[in-house]
This record gives sequence, C-alpha cells and structure tokens, in this order.
Amino acid sequence: MSLSREQMLAEMGITPIWRLRDSAPVGDRGGEAAGETAGAAVEAAQLPAQPAVPTVATTVAPVAPSALGMAPNAAVDALDWPELSRRVAECKLCPLCQQRKQAVLGVGDRNADWLFIGEGPGADEDVQGEPFVGQAGKLLDNMLAALDLVRGNKVYIANTVKCRPPGNRTPEAAEMAACRPYLERQIALIKPKIIVLLGKAAVHSVLHDDKSLASLRGRLFDYQGIPVVVTYHPAYLLRNLPDKAKAWEDLLFARRTMRASLSSGAELPF
Ligand code: URA
Ligand code: SF4
Repeated sequence: MSLSREQMLAEMGITPIWRLRDSAPVGDRGGEAAGETAGAAVEAAQLPAQPAVPTVATTVAPVAPSALGMAPNAAVDALDWPELSRRVAECKLCPLCQQRKQAVLGVGDRNADWLFIGEGPGADEDVQGEPFVGQAGKLLDNMLAALDLVRGNKVYIANTVKCRPPGNRTPEAAEMAACRPYLERQIALIKPKIIVLLGKAAVHSVLHDDKSLASLRGRLFDYQGIPVVVTYHPAYLLRNLPDKAKAWEDLLFARRTMRASLSSGAELPF
C-alpha cells in the first residue's frame, strides 16, 4: 500500500475530522464528495467523547445450530485448518452451494490479533476465492490502513457465509446458521484479541442480535471472552458516505479496546 496515511483517510472520507483544528480544506476530492465529508465531519465533531476504556459490555450465549432448525455440522469444532478448508470447499449444507464458483473460507494471518467478519462473498470474491477483493474490499483495506494494519499481517478477514448468495442478496438466517460452525471454528483457531463485525449479517451470526447497527455500535460485546465491536459494512459505507465518520469512530473504539486489553494484561472490563 503506497498511499500516505492522509491519502488513506481522505479515501475513507474522514480527513475533515483531522483538519478541523487547522481548517485546511481537502483538495483532492470532488466538490460533491467534499460536501459529503464536510457533513460527516460536523456530525463527528458533535459526537460525545468516547470513554478511554469501553464500559458497556454484553455477553451473548452461543445458540446451537440445531436450535435454529439446521442439521448440526458434525465435529467441525475439532477440525484443524487443512481439514476445515477442505470441509468448506466441499460443503453442500445449504442452498448457497448451488451457484457458487467456489467457497471462500477467509484470508490472512491465522494468528491474527484482529478478526474482521463481513457478510458473504460477492461476484469478485466468488471468482478469486478471497474475501473483500472488490470495491468494498478496497475500502476495507483503506480502513485497515488507517489503523496501520494490512491484510494478512495480524489481520484475518472472514465472512458470515462462505458461498456467494445469488445476486448478492442478504444471506438467510438458515444459511447463516448452517455456515456458523465454520466461522466459530475459525474464531477458535485464530483466537483473535478483537473481533470487528462488519454489518448486520455478521452481527446476527455472531451475536444473535437483530437490532439496528446504529443501536449496537459504540458498545462492547463479548464472544467467548473475546471483545467484539460492531460497525457498518464497507459496501453500505460506499452508498452512505457520511457514515464513514461513524465507522472511523468505531475503529478507534476497537483500537482503544485492543490497547486496553493489551495494557492490562488481558484484564478486560467485563
Ligand atoms: N462483502 C462481504 O461481506 N464480503 C466480501 O467478501 C465481499 C463483499
Ligand atoms: Fe456450506 Fe456455508 Fe457454503 Fe452453505 S454457505 S454451502 S453452509 S460453506
């Protein structure tokens, strides 16, 4: 990634937040985009200050797939990485297997500190076999870069469902439930220090929560002892540019959470 940090923030549409004090305008975006980001900056400036250490915590009990009406995905919780890859590549547990070109397990560092979870593969991901390689992926890479992170180094990227929903529709609850054991196994193998859920499908799958993202972001959740934060999906952000400022707040919240957990020797506030 050769972009400077400032260019990356500009790419995310959030440079005005950093420019408020010296009031220098952003020069490299069109008038329309600049207007949108200026709006986002005002919105961000009015946000209440986030606490240095997150204080809200919610623990979510796991739901067994059988409780959701799906056949249990036998013994996935004992698979190692090669077996898990093979099982996912051959999986026919839900109808999403029918139109996929290939299943997309995930990409990155299998000992990652950061685990980002999206929704499901789109057309590009279905062809290339890697999550977030299309337009939304470029934005995700820029979001990572703004945190001084790069795909593959201390970062793993996965999806809620491993096969492309036809026409990029939202995966159905039964499809997410069928695929959940694979995601749960990935989490158990990676043991990330933080999980960032990108959008509603990931929230639904991991936290079993259907509330609006707006009501869930800014709060700290727990998945089996791992802190979890929620933010908007990059594809949503591409359509709703002003909300990039909120996504940046969420990423900073995630970073503070990570730092708090590191500096307190894994003592988390829940
Ligand atoms: N959107 C997602 O949720 N995941 C991908 O891999 C690509 C786009
Ligand atoms: Fe299997 Fe998940 Fe693909 Fe469905 S989406 S076929 S459960 S790998």
